[in-house]
Amino acid sequence: MKKLEQVYEGKAKKVFATDDPELFIVDYKDDATAFNGEKKGTIAGKGVINNRVTNYLMGLLEKEGVPTHFVKELSERETLVKKVSIVPLEVIIRNISAGSFAKRYGVKEGIVFDEPTIEFSYKNDDLGDPLINSYHALALKLATKEEIETIKKYAFAVNDFLKKFMKGIGIDLVDFKLEFGRLSDGTIVLADEISPDTCRFWDSKTGEKLDKDRFRRDLGNVEGAYQEIMRRMIGE
Ligand code: ADP
Ligand code: UDP
Repeated sequence: MKKLEQVYEGKAKKVFATDDPELFIVDYKDDATAFNGEKKGTIAGKGVINNRVTNYLMGLLEKEGVPTHFVKELSERETLVKKVSIVPLEVIIRNISAGSFAKRYGVKEGIVFDEPTIEFSYKNDDLGDPLINSYHALALKLATKEEIETIKKYAFAVNDFLKKFMKGIGIDLVDFKLEFGRLSDGTIVLADEISPDTCRFWDSKTGEKLDKDRFRRDLGNVEGAYQEIMRRMIGE
C-alpha cells in the first residue's frame, strides 16, 4: 500500500490518498483544539493513543455488528481506512448531563438519564457546528431518511456496547460524538474516531475526568488521563 498525497488536514488528523482509490490513510496528530478552534495546544502522545484506542474499539464494534471504516493499523499514528464521503452530521449520544447539554438547558453536570439521548450538529466549521434536527438535515439534503434511521440505529448500538465495556474497566461513559460516512456503494459505516478527544469518560469511583475536558478546562495531567484510558482498555 503506497501513501500518496495529503487530501486533507484537519485539527487532529491528516488524511492521505493511497494507490487504492477506495482506501485512505489517516495520520493522528498531537494537536488539540477546543471551542471551535479558539483554544489550541498539543497533548504529547495523544495521536498514538487515539489511533490505538479508536482501532481497538472499532475492531470490537465490528464484532457487535456495527460496520466501520477500519481496515488495518499501519503504525503508531497511521491507519488504513475505507474512504467514505462523510455525512456532515456530528452524532452525539449522552447518558449523563455534561458540557453543552448542561449549559444549554441550565442543569448541573452529572445527572444520569433514564434513557440515552441523541442529537445532531451540522458539521460546518464556518457556522460553528450548529445543533440541527433530522427534519432540517433532510431539508438540507445532508442525508436521506433511511440513512438517518441507519445512523441512529448504529449510534445507539455503539452506546449499548461502549457503555457496558467502559463500565467493565471502571469508567462511566458520559457522552460521545460519532461521524458516519458512505462507501462508494452507498453503505453507511462508522468513520472518524472514538477516543478521549471525542468521548467524556469519568472514573466510576472517583468521578475524575479522563478525557479532553482536562484540556478544555485546564485541569492538568491531560497526557496522564489519555494514557490511563489506553492502559485500562488495552493494557498498554
Ligand atoms: P476536523 O475536520 O474536524 O478538524 P480531523 O482533524 O479529525 O477533524 O480530520 C479528519 C477528517 O477526516 C474529518 O473531517 C473526518 O470527517 C474525515 N474522515 C474521517 N474518516 C474518514 C474516512 N474514512 N474517509 C474520509 N474522510 C474521513
Ligand atoms: N464532541 C466532539 N467534537 C465536537 C463536539 C463535541 O468530539 O466538535 C464530543 C465531546 O467530546 C463530548 C460530546 O461530543 O464527548 C458532547 O459534547 P458537547 O455537546 O457537550 O460539547 P462541548 O462540551 O464540547 O462544547
